[in-house]
Amino acid sequence: MYDTIIRAGRLGNGQLVDVAIKHGKIAALGSLPESTVAKQTLTLDGQVHVSAGWIDGHTHCYPASPLYHDEPDKVGVESGVTTVIDAGSTGADDVDDFQRLAADCKTRVHALLNISRIGLLRQNELADPADIDPALAQAAIRRHPGFIVGIKARMSGSVVGESGLQPLRMAKQIQQANGNLPLMVHVGNTPPDLDEIVALLGDGDLLTHCFNGKPNRILTPAGELRQAVREAMRRGLLLDIGHGGASFSFEVAELAIAQGILPHTISSDIYCKNRIKGPVYSLAHVMSKFFAIGMTLEQVLACVTHQAADALRLPGKGRLEVGADADITLFEVSCGPTLFTDTEAGARNGDRQLLPLAALVGGELVLTHYGKSHHAFCV
Ligand SMILES: [Zn+2]
Repeated sequence: MYDTIIRAGRLGNGQLVDVAIKHGKIAALGSLPESTVAKQTLTLDGQVHVSAGWIDGHTHCYPASPLYHDEPDKVGVESGVTTVIDAGSTGADDVDDFQRLAADCKTRVHALLNISRIGLLRQNELADPADIDPALAQAAIRRHPGFIVGIKARMSGSVVGESGLQPLRMAKQIQQANGNLPLMVHVGNTPPDLDEIVALLGDGDLLTHCFNGKPNRILTPAGELRQAVREAMRRGLLLDIGHGGASFSFEVAELAIAQGILPHTISSDIYCKNRIKGPVYSLAHVMSKFFAIGMTLEQVLACVTHQAADALRLPGKGRLEVGADADITLFEVSCGPTLFTDTEAGARNGDRQLLPLAALVGGELVLTHYGKSHHAFCV
Protein backbone atom coordinates (compact mmCIF):
# COMPACT_ATOMS: atom_id res chain seq x y z
CA MET A 1 0.00 0.00 0.00
CA TYR A 2 1.55 3.25 -1.18
CA ASP A 3 0.63 6.73 0.03
CA THR A 4 0.23 8.16 -3.48
CA ILE A 5 0.36 6.87 -7.05
CA ILE A 6 0.77 9.21 -10.00
CA ARG A 7 -0.63 7.41 -13.07
CA ALA A 8 0.58 8.02 -16.63
CA GLY A 9 2.47 11.27 -16.18
CA ARG A 10 4.31 12.45 -19.27
CA LEU A 11 8.06 12.91 -18.95
CA GLY A 12 10.08 15.59 -20.75
CA ASN A 13 11.06 13.02 -23.39
CA GLY A 14 7.40 12.19 -24.05
CA GLN A 15 7.36 8.78 -22.35
CA LEU A 16 4.67 7.89 -19.81
CA VAL A 17 5.51 6.90 -16.27
CA ASP A 18 3.77 5.86 -13.06
CA VAL A 19 5.29 7.06 -9.80
CA ALA A 20 4.53 5.49 -6.41
CA ILE A 21 5.28 7.37 -3.20
CA LYS A 22 5.65 6.07 0.34
CA HIS A 23 6.89 7.85 3.47
CA GLY A 24 7.90 10.94 1.49
CA LYS A 25 10.15 9.05 -0.93
CA ILE A 26 9.75 7.71 -4.44
CA ALA A 27 9.13 4.01 -3.81
CA ALA A 28 8.51 2.67 -7.33
CA LEU A 29 8.70 3.97 -10.88
CA GLY A 30 7.80 2.77 -14.33
CA SER A 31 4.68 0.96 -15.49
CA LEU A 32 3.04 -0.22 -12.28
CA PRO A 33 0.42 -3.03 -12.26
CA GLU A 34 -3.27 -2.01 -12.23
CA SER A 35 -3.59 -3.86 -8.93
CA THR A 36 -1.19 -1.47 -7.18
CA VAL A 37 -3.09 0.37 -4.45
CA ALA A 38 -2.51 3.68 -2.71
CA LYS A 39 -4.39 6.03 -0.40
CA GLN A 40 -4.39 8.71 -3.13
CA THR A 41 -4.23 8.37 -6.92
CA LEU A 42 -3.45 11.19 -9.34
CA THR A 43 -4.68 10.14 -12.77
CA LEU A 44 -2.82 12.13 -15.40
CA ASP A 45 -3.76 10.07 -18.50
CA GLY A 46 -0.73 11.39 -20.39
CA GLN A 47 -2.30 14.86 -20.40
CA VAL A 48 -0.18 16.23 -17.58
CA HIS A 49 3.60 16.33 -17.44
CA VAL A 50 5.58 15.10 -14.49
CA SER A 51 9.15 15.94 -13.55
CA ALA A 52 11.40 15.95 -10.54
CA GLY A 53 10.45 18.94 -8.40
CA TRP A 54 11.61 22.24 -9.81
CA ILE A 55 14.45 24.02 -8.03
CA ASP A 56 14.74 27.80 -8.31
CA GLY A 57 18.39 28.51 -7.51
CA HIS A 58 18.10 32.31 -7.24
CA THR A 59 15.16 33.89 -5.43
CA HIS A 60 14.62 36.58 -2.78
CA CYS A 61 12.12 35.28 -0.28
CA TYR A 62 13.20 36.47 3.16
CA PRO A 63 9.89 38.12 4.12
CA ALA A 64 11.54 40.66 6.43
CA SER A 65 14.06 41.96 3.90
CA PRO A 66 13.70 45.71 3.42
CA LEU A 67 14.76 45.66 -0.26
CA TYR A 68 13.78 42.44 -2.01
CA HIS A 69 11.27 40.30 -0.15
CA ASP A 70 8.61 37.69 -0.79
CA GLU A 71 6.92 34.70 0.81
CA PRO A 72 8.74 31.41 0.14
CA ASP A 73 5.51 29.52 -0.64
CA LYS A 74 4.41 32.15 -3.17
CA VAL A 75 7.57 31.72 -5.24
CA GLY A 76 7.70 28.04 -4.23
CA VAL A 77 4.91 25.47 -4.12
CA GLU A 78 2.19 27.91 -5.19
CA SER A 79 4.21 28.35 -8.41
CA GLY A 80 5.01 24.66 -8.87
CA VAL A 81 8.50 25.02 -7.38
CA THR A 82 9.42 22.52 -4.68
CA THR A 83 12.77 24.00 -3.60
CA VAL A 84 13.75 27.67 -3.48
CA ILE A 85 17.21 29.02 -2.78
CA ASP A 86 17.32 32.54 -1.42
CA ALA A 87 20.39 34.14 -2.96
CA GLY A 88 21.96 36.36 -0.35
CA SER A 89 19.02 38.29 1.11
CA THR A 90 20.43 37.49 4.53
CA GLY A 91 23.91 37.54 6.01
CA ALA A 92 25.19 36.34 9.37
CA ASP A 93 23.14 38.99 11.24
CA ASP A 94 19.67 37.87 10.15
CA VAL A 95 19.99 34.34 8.75
CA ASP A 96 18.77 32.87 12.07
CA ASP A 97 15.50 34.77 11.71
CA PHE A 98 15.16 33.64 8.09
CA GLN A 99 15.79 30.01 9.02
CA ARG A 100 13.05 30.19 11.68
CA LEU A 101 10.52 31.63 9.23
CA ALA A 102 11.51 29.19 6.48
CA ALA A 103 10.99 26.17 8.73
CA ASP A 104 7.21 26.78 8.70
CA CYS A 105 6.91 26.78 4.88
CA LYS A 106 5.56 23.98 2.70
CA THR A 107 8.32 24.73 0.19
CA ARG A 108 11.84 23.51 0.87
CA VAL A 109 13.82 26.67 1.52
CA HIS A 110 17.60 27.09 1.55
CA ALA A 111 19.87 30.11 1.69
CA LEU A 112 23.04 31.26 0.05
CA LEU A 113 24.56 33.31 2.85
CA ASN A 114 25.52 36.83 1.82
CA ILE A 115 29.21 37.27 2.65
CA SER A 116 28.20 40.68 4.04
CA ARG A 117 26.91 40.24 7.57
CA ILE A 118 24.09 42.72 6.83
CA GLY A 119 22.71 40.85 3.80
CA LEU A 120 20.54 43.00 1.54
CA LEU A 121 19.88 45.64 4.18
CA ARG A 122 21.29 48.18 1.74
CA GLN A 123 22.10 48.12 -1.99
CA ASN A 124 25.83 48.48 -1.28
CA GLU A 125 26.25 45.70 1.25
CA LEU A 126 29.86 45.01 0.22
CA ALA A 127 31.08 48.61 0.21
CA ASP A 128 32.24 48.62 3.85
CA PRO A 129 34.99 46.01 4.37
CA ALA A 130 34.05 45.81 8.06
CA ASP A 131 30.77 44.11 7.08
CA ILE A 132 32.64 41.10 5.61
CA ASP A 133 33.52 39.01 8.63
CA PRO A 134 34.68 35.48 7.74
CA ALA A 135 34.43 34.27 11.36
CA LEU A 136 30.80 35.40 11.65
CA ALA A 137 29.99 33.83 8.27
CA GLN A 138 31.60 30.56 9.32
CA ALA A 139 29.69 30.49 12.60
CA ALA A 140 26.40 31.04 10.70
CA ILE A 141 27.24 28.25 8.24
CA ARG A 142 27.96 25.92 11.17
CA ARG A 143 24.73 26.90 12.95
CA HIS A 144 22.63 26.05 9.89
CA PRO A 145 23.98 23.00 8.09
CA GLY A 146 21.48 21.96 5.45
CA PHE A 147 19.78 25.36 5.44
CA ILE A 148 22.77 27.38 4.26
CA VAL A 149 23.92 25.56 1.12
CA GLY A 150 26.38 28.12 -0.21
CA ILE A 151 27.46 31.76 -0.21
CA LYS A 152 26.67 34.79 -2.36
CA ALA A 153 28.74 37.78 -3.43
CA ARG A 154 27.27 40.59 -5.53
CA MET A 155 30.13 41.96 -7.60
CA SER A 156 28.84 45.10 -9.24
CA GLY A 157 30.00 48.67 -8.87
CA SER A 158 26.92 49.84 -7.01
CA VAL A 159 27.35 47.04 -4.45
CA VAL A 160 31.12 46.99 -3.83
CA GLY A 161 31.77 50.75 -4.08
CA GLU A 162 35.50 51.39 -3.69
CA SER A 163 36.23 47.82 -2.59
CA GLY A 164 36.89 46.46 -6.10
CA LEU A 165 37.66 42.74 -6.19
CA GLN A 166 38.44 42.46 -2.48
CA PRO A 167 34.97 41.14 -1.50
CA LEU A 168 35.32 38.36 -4.09
CA ARG A 169 38.75 37.38 -2.77
CA MET A 170 37.21 37.17 0.70
CA ALA A 171 34.30 35.14 -0.67
CA LYS A 172 36.78 32.61 -2.08
CA GLN A 173 38.49 32.44 1.35
CA ILE A 174 35.16 31.86 3.10
CA GLN A 175 34.29 29.21 0.49
CA GLN A 176 37.57 27.37 0.97
CA ALA A 177 37.37 27.53 4.77
CA ASN A 178 33.89 25.96 4.67
CA GLY A 179 34.19 22.78 2.66
CA ASN A 180 34.35 24.49 -0.72
CA LEU A 181 30.60 25.13 -0.68
CA PRO A 182 28.92 26.64 -3.76
CA LEU A 183 29.66 30.33 -4.40
CA MET A 184 27.18 32.32 -6.48
CA VAL A 185 28.56 35.55 -7.92
CA HIS A 186 26.30 38.26 -9.30
CA VAL A 187 27.59 40.36 -12.17
CA GLY A 188 26.13 43.76 -13.01
CA ASN A 189 27.45 47.23 -13.70
CA THR A 190 31.23 47.84 -13.86
CA PRO A 191 33.66 48.08 -12.18
CA PRO A 192 34.85 45.41 -11.61
CA ASP A 193 35.07 44.17 -15.18
CA LEU A 194 33.65 40.71 -15.84
CA ASP A 195 37.08 39.49 -17.03
CA GLU A 196 38.58 40.29 -13.62
CA ILE A 197 35.67 38.62 -11.81
CA VAL A 198 35.69 35.33 -13.72
CA ALA A 199 39.48 35.12 -13.48
CA LEU A 200 38.92 34.31 -9.80
CA LEU A 201 36.18 31.74 -10.45
CA GLY A 202 36.20 28.11 -11.41
CA ASP A 203 35.11 24.68 -10.29
CA GLY A 204 31.55 24.71 -9.02
CA ASP A 205 31.18 28.49 -8.83
CA LEU A 206 27.98 29.94 -10.31
CA LEU A 207 27.87 33.12 -12.38
CA THR A 208 24.35 34.50 -12.02
CA HIS A 209 22.76 37.01 -14.43
CA CYS A 210 24.84 35.15 -17.05
CA PHE A 211 22.79 36.41 -20.02
CA ASN A 212 22.52 40.02 -18.85
CA GLY A 213 22.59 42.66 -21.59
CA LYS A 214 24.81 45.19 -19.80
CA PRO A 215 28.38 46.07 -20.84
CA ASN A 216 29.50 43.35 -18.39
CA ARG A 217 27.85 40.71 -20.58
CA ILE A 218 29.63 37.42 -21.30
CA LEU A 219 30.02 38.28 -25.01
CA THR A 220 32.54 40.51 -26.77
CA PRO A 221 31.19 43.44 -28.85
CA ALA A 222 31.52 41.08 -31.84
CA GLY A 223 29.16 38.64 -30.10
CA GLU A 224 31.67 35.95 -29.23
CA LEU A 225 32.18 34.42 -25.81
CA ARG A 226 34.82 36.38 -23.89
CA GLN A 227 38.07 34.46 -23.60
CA ALA A 228 38.15 34.90 -19.81
CA VAL A 229 34.66 33.40 -19.49
CA ARG A 230 35.60 30.50 -21.77
CA GLU A 231 38.63 29.74 -19.59
CA ALA A 232 36.61 29.97 -16.37
CA MET A 233 34.02 27.59 -17.82
CA ARG A 234 36.82 25.18 -18.67
CA ARG A 235 37.75 25.34 -14.97
CA GLY A 236 34.15 24.44 -14.09
CA LEU A 237 32.33 27.79 -13.80
CA LEU A 238 28.56 27.26 -14.17
CA LEU A 239 26.16 29.73 -15.82
CA ASP A 240 22.97 30.63 -13.95
CA ILE A 241 20.21 32.76 -15.48
CA GLY A 242 19.01 34.91 -12.53
CA HIS A 243 16.53 36.73 -14.81
CA GLY A 244 15.33 39.42 -12.41
CA GLY A 245 14.16 42.87 -13.35
CA ALA A 246 17.32 43.92 -15.23
CA SER A 247 19.46 40.92 -16.09
CA PHE A 248 18.16 38.96 -19.08
CA SER A 249 18.71 39.77 -22.75
CA PHE A 250 17.23 37.60 -25.51
CA GLU A 251 19.97 38.84 -27.84
CA VAL A 252 22.75 37.65 -25.52
CA ALA A 253 20.94 34.37 -24.82
CA GLU A 254 20.45 33.66 -28.53
CA LEU A 255 24.04 34.49 -29.47
CA ALA A 256 25.33 32.31 -26.63
CA ILE A 257 23.04 29.38 -27.37
CA ALA A 258 23.98 29.57 -31.07
CA GLN A 259 27.59 28.98 -29.94
CA GLY A 260 26.50 25.97 -27.90
CA ILE A 261 26.62 27.83 -24.58
CA LEU A 262 23.53 26.71 -22.70
CA PRO A 263 22.70 27.83 -19.17
CA HIS A 264 23.53 25.27 -16.53
CA THR A 265 20.70 26.41 -14.28
CA ILE A 266 17.58 28.51 -14.99
CA SER A 267 16.59 30.68 -12.04
CA SER A 268 14.22 33.59 -11.65
CA ASP A 269 15.74 36.15 -9.22
CA ILE A 270 12.10 36.62 -8.24
CA TYR A 271 10.73 38.79 -5.44
CA CYS A 272 7.28 40.26 -4.83
CA LYS A 273 7.57 43.21 -7.22
CA ASN A 274 8.92 41.42 -10.32
CA ARG A 275 6.60 38.50 -9.52
CA ILE A 276 3.46 40.63 -9.52
CA LYS A 277 4.36 43.27 -12.13
CA GLY A 278 6.77 41.26 -14.26
CA PRO A 279 8.94 40.73 -16.15
CA VAL A 280 9.62 37.59 -14.07
CA TYR A 281 6.14 36.48 -12.88
CA SER A 282 7.29 32.92 -12.03
CA LEU A 283 10.03 30.39 -12.63
CA ALA A 284 7.67 28.67 -15.12
CA HIS A 285 7.40 31.91 -17.10
CA VAL A 286 11.18 32.33 -17.18
CA MET A 287 11.58 28.68 -18.26
CA SER A 288 9.03 29.19 -21.04
CA LYS A 289 11.14 32.01 -22.54
CA PHE A 290 13.80 29.45 -23.43
CA PHE A 291 11.41 27.58 -25.75
CA ALA A 292 11.13 30.80 -27.78
CA ILE A 293 14.90 30.74 -28.35
CA GLY A 294 15.29 27.13 -29.26
CA MET A 295 15.78 25.05 -26.12
CA THR A 296 13.83 21.81 -25.81
CA LEU A 297 11.54 20.83 -22.94
CA GLU A 298 14.10 18.28 -21.77
CA GLN A 299 16.90 20.87 -21.80
CA VAL A 300 14.78 23.41 -19.90
CA LEU A 301 13.71 20.85 -17.30
CA ALA A 302 17.31 19.72 -16.78
CA CYS A 303 18.18 23.31 -15.78
CA VAL A 304 15.71 23.28 -12.86
CA THR A 305 16.06 19.64 -11.80
CA HIS A 306 19.22 17.51 -11.79
CA GLN A 307 21.57 20.25 -12.99
CA ALA A 308 20.29 22.62 -10.29
CA ALA A 309 20.46 19.89 -7.63
CA ASP A 310 24.05 19.07 -8.60
CA ALA A 311 25.15 22.72 -8.78
CA LEU A 312 23.71 23.49 -5.35
CA ARG A 313 24.58 20.05 -3.96
CA LEU A 314 21.10 19.13 -2.82
CA PRO A 315 21.12 15.39 -2.07
CA GLY A 316 17.97 13.44 -2.96
CA LYS A 317 16.70 16.23 -5.21
CA GLY A 318 16.37 16.81 -8.93
CA ARG A 319 15.81 13.25 -10.14
CA LEU A 320 12.85 10.95 -10.48
CA GLU A 321 14.39 7.78 -9.12
CA VAL A 322 13.57 5.21 -6.47
CA GLY A 323 14.82 6.38 -3.08
CA ALA A 324 14.83 10.08 -3.99
CA ASP A 325 12.67 12.55 -2.06
CA ALA A 326 9.11 12.62 -3.45
CA ASP A 327 9.53 16.20 -4.65
CA ILE A 328 7.64 16.37 -7.93
CA THR A 329 6.17 19.05 -10.18
CA LEU A 330 3.02 18.43 -12.27
CA PHE A 331 2.48 20.80 -15.17
CA GLU A 332 0.87 21.35 -18.56
CA VAL A 333 2.56 22.51 -21.72
CA SER A 334 0.00 24.87 -23.18
CA CYS A 335 0.24 25.68 -26.87
CA GLY A 336 -0.66 29.06 -28.34
CA PRO A 337 1.07 32.28 -29.34
CA THR A 338 2.68 34.17 -26.46
CA LEU A 339 4.83 37.28 -26.53
CA PHE A 340 7.80 37.11 -24.15
CA THR A 341 9.82 40.16 -23.14
CA ASP A 342 13.31 40.48 -21.70
CA THR A 343 14.74 43.28 -19.54
CA GLU A 344 16.32 45.15 -22.49
CA ALA A 345 13.16 46.06 -24.46
CA GLY A 346 13.57 42.87 -26.48
CA ALA A 347 10.67 40.55 -27.26
CA ARG A 348 10.22 37.15 -28.88
CA ASN A 349 7.17 35.22 -30.03
CA GLY A 350 6.74 31.84 -28.43
CA ASP A 351 4.24 29.07 -29.05
CA ARG A 352 4.40 27.15 -25.78
CA GLN A 353 4.08 27.93 -22.09
CA LEU A 354 4.59 25.89 -18.96
CA LEU A 355 1.64 25.99 -16.57
CA PRO A 356 2.31 24.34 -13.20
CA LEU A 357 -0.64 22.46 -11.70
CA ALA A 358 0.83 21.14 -8.48
CA ALA A 359 3.92 20.54 -6.44
CA LEU A 360 4.51 17.54 -4.23
CA VAL A 361 7.04 18.08 -1.47
CA GLY A 362 7.98 14.91 0.37
CA GLY A 363 4.81 13.45 -1.14
CA GLU A 364 2.52 16.24 0.17
CA LEU A 365 0.38 17.64 -2.66
CA VAL A 366 -0.10 21.41 -3.04
CA LEU A 367 -2.18 22.61 -5.99
CA THR A 368 -1.25 25.87 -7.65
CA HIS A 369 -3.95 28.47 -8.28
CA TYR A 370 -4.19 27.18 -11.87
CA GLY A 371 -4.18 23.59 -10.62
CA LYS A 372 -7.18 24.27 -8.37
CA SER A 373 -9.32 25.01 -11.41
CA HIS A 374 -8.02 21.92 -13.24
CA HIS A 375 -8.06 19.41 -10.44
CA ALA A 376 -9.92 16.66 -12.29
CA PHE A 377 -6.71 14.61 -12.21
CA CYS A 378 -6.81 14.50 -8.43
CA VAL A 379 -8.79 11.59 -6.96
ZN1 LIG B 1 19.23 38.36 -6.85
